Amino acid sequence: ARVTRFAPSPTGSMHLGGLYVATLARDLARRSGGVYLVRIEDTDKDREVAGAAEEFARIFRYFGLEPDEGEQEGRWGPYRQSDRADIYLSYVRELVREQRAYPCFCSPERLEENAGEQRRSRSPLGYYGKWARCRSLSVREAGERIAAGEPYTVRLRCPAGLPGRVRFCDLVRGALTMLDNGNDVVVLKSADAEGRRLPTYHLAHVVDDHLMRVNLVVRGEEWISSLPLHHQLHRALGFRTPEYAHIAPLMKLDGSSRRKLSKRKDPESAAGFYEAAGYPAAAVAHYLRGLANSRVAGLPTGRALAEPLRLAEMGAAGPMVDLLKLRSLSREYIASLAPAEALAQLGDWAAGYAPELLAVLRKHPDLALASFEMARRGNGTPRKDLACWQEFTAAYGFCFPELHETVDRPGDDRFGGLPGPAVSALAADLAACYRHAGPAQDWFAVLRTVAERHGFAPDVRSHRADPGAYRGSIRDVANVVRVCLTGSRRSPDLFQVAQSLGEEEVLRRLRPLAT
Ligand code: GLU
Repeated sequence: ARVTRFAPSPTGSMHLGGLYVATLARDLARRSGGVYLVRIEDTDKDREVAGAAEEFARIFRYFGLEPDEGEQEGRWGPYRQSDRADIYLSYVRELVREQRAYPCFCSPERLEENAGEQRRSRSPLGYYGKWARCRSLSVREAGERIAAGEPYTVRLRCPAGLPGRVRFCDLVRGALTMLDNGNDVVVLKSADAEGRRLPTYHLAHVVDDHLMRVNLVVRGEEWISSLPLHHQLHRALGFRTPEYAHIAPLMKLDGSSRRKLSKRKDPESAAGFYEAAGYPAAAVAHYLRGLANSRVAGLPTGRALAEPLRLAEMGAAGPMVDLLKLRSLSREYIASLAPAEALAQLGDWAAGYAPELLAVLRKHPDLALASFEMARRGNGTPRKDLACWQEFTAAYGFCFPELHETVDRPGDDRFGGLPGPAVSALAADLAACYRHAGPAQDWFAVLRTVAERHGFAPDVRSHRADPGAYRGSIRDVANVVRVCLTGSRRSPDLFQVAQSLGEEEVLRRLRPLAT
């Protein structure tokens, strides 16, 4: 069984790429009957953003990615690194005692000087060779300088002390040969203003992955270059090295070139974008799984979710995020929901993001249900018109008195350029005929009668002889009704709309235009 983790740093909002990695880590654990945990990596106090960890928890909840273990529950915690400072310290002490690590008193200025010299002599940057001044300090001298209160960090003693090649295996990339630059890397930072000593990410995550019995590390590809160091740390600490799967970043097609999905340029790169707009979590999760296993993308929801993830087939190139594809998948998903289920999901979203809409839905439960019933055509096929819940008001708001805006200008653009007087005359006649025909009428028969009476032909072909006399088609007449009843040129089936609004409301909506 696999124990995987997702270990975000609370330095900003959650990226879609983070959600992607978390989804994969969780699936891999679940499928193996293992455990998926979330750990908050907050040892970089300067970059921490207040409230970020709480936002992560909310995002996980929205997307149904709650961990099996994490801050809320779990026996291997605490799951926030700043609460584990003592644990790291004890491991660092052990490393120093065994001379696998040593205190370093080099000031930032000193390190800057080193870097300058290294640049001038075209040597690799870092703390190694003749530049690793503190590496050879005696235990006594180091002890005295610490006792005298000199600030220091702790560095891992790289066994080779020289650059060299190392071989690794990554579950996505396969066998890799990498350059280990032989650096003595800082594992414990100098004390902060409150005298607290925090480890660097490198040490902290290795200790945590070990203590939390993680055996498969799924994380972003940006960490692959640190793999030699992480292996070295596991070895120095006497831990068994976990397996690694480094996930290539999400890409985007920009014009004709591929680039990484960017936090700065692409609003759809933020996980919160999908939550705020109300893309159903299941649709987003399905899309992300599809990206990982592109074989899966075309399959219907149920089957794709049952497909196991094959890391080795993922490839080194990141998949392309396509919002249009995600939207079409999301439309399919919403259309597949039974009306009551769709309504429940809409309500959950509205509770967080659209309180006015929620109040309206609660006030008119019958209309709310009817609106989703209208989302199926007369013949039962779904309309697939909503990609996210945010679009509900524009598409179905007309069903509710509070959300419908009366259309009362005959010159309104939505009438498609039909002259105002013609619109008014049509509306008046439509209202009269509709009332006389009663509710069980054939709606199209009414439209046809009115259209003909006002000189609208079935279509332009019927005016071949005298195209100048063509005023418009029966479609234009239907559009007048559609816009009056729904405020939009696109709507569910007119007959269904009229049925659900009821005769009185239909007349109320036609009348302001009828003169
Ligand atoms: N805290 C690291 C980050 O936010 C996680 C790296 C890892 O998963 O090991 O990128």
